[in-house]
Amino acid sequence: MISPANNMTIKPEVSVVIPVYNEELGLAQLFSRLYPALDKLNVSYEIIFINDGSSDRSAAMLREQFQARPDVTRVVLFKGNYGQHMAIMAGFEHCRGQRIVTLDADLQNPPEEIGALLAEMDKGHDYVGSIRKQRQDSLFRRYASKAMNRTRERITNIKMTDQGCMLRAYSRDIVLAINQTKDTSTFIPALAYSFSRRPVEIEVAHEERFAGESKYSLQQLIKLNFDLMTGFSTLPLRVFSLIGIVISVLSICFVIFLAIRRLVLGPEAEGLFTLFGIAFFLIGVTLFGIGLLGEYVGRIYDQVRLRPRYMIDAVLENVANKDT
Ligand code: UDP
Ligand code: MG
Repeated sequence: MISPANNMTIKPEVSVVIPVYNEELGLAQLFSRLYPALDKLNVSYEIIFINDGSSDRSAAMLREQFQARPDVTRVVLFKGNYGQHMAIMAGFEHCRGQRIVTLDADLQNPPEEIGALLAEMDKGHDYVGSIRKQRQDSLFRRYASKAMNRTRERITNIKMTDQGCMLRAYSRDIVLAINQTKDTSTFIPALAYSFSRRPVEIEVAHEERFAGESKYSLQQLIKLNFDLMTGFSTLPLRVFSLIGIVISVLSICFVIFLAIRRLVLGPEAEGLFTLFGIAFFLIGVTLFGIGLLGEYVGRIYDQVRLRPRYMIDAVLENVANKDT
């Protein structure tokens, strides 16, 4: 069923970008809900799946789906696993729509909500974020992400009520700006937010993962949040300099105090452990500072190496859909 609106030579109005990593259990269900939901919207669209080096049948299933709906489907196959955000980046580089929607493959964000995002863009917003109405995740996960959200908001000026929700819509301008950054480790919603002029957030439904498991371990979540803080703000560095200044001033006062005591009371050996305590504290602060510097240097290093961020095995697309 090819509607005339989806005429291949015309650029689609909407591109839906979906990263896929070992989602064989949920893909069939995704296809059966996503395509009808988009057909209903009466806009021309394309769906870009990025297979992020899945080791299960996901790639084969995406191939089949491409064959079933070549008019509106494009598939980018990665050579390895480069992470969700790199997959979305690749999707951005291959999409042609005026509006770009990102969506997870696990159906936690219902595809039926895409229409609501687009309606918000009709009102002139260039970035539509989303907030999960009733989050279907574990209590720990919910609590941890709330705390992280608050810290991030303070440090980076990026206002996202729900940073974990990937169902978002961006204007083409924002996506083009993101394509230019060539950022190596980044968090797309935050990057997009920093380029947007009229961002807005709406509430969307949230469902339990349809099948399979979350691909994020606690360690990856920590790394992601570190990236968010250091990737979008140098405030941690500045705070650290401030701590350094305060401690230096206090230390100088302390040294002067000791010198005066030496002159008034003569030599003393008491309070040695207090001094140790102070020294250890200062060493601790210094080490933390070096670690923090390391985070930034690491980012700079990643960036200057200019290594390809991902490698593409193949792109499945209709010949008529190809960019010339
Ligand atoms: N994903 C990916 N590469 C990865 C990890 C995840 O492309 O290395 C995809 C995954 O298939 C899903 C989305 O990113 O479509 C979000 O992953 P997940 O649902 O596991 O994250 P969570 O919802 O637990 O934050
Ligand atoms: Mg998920």
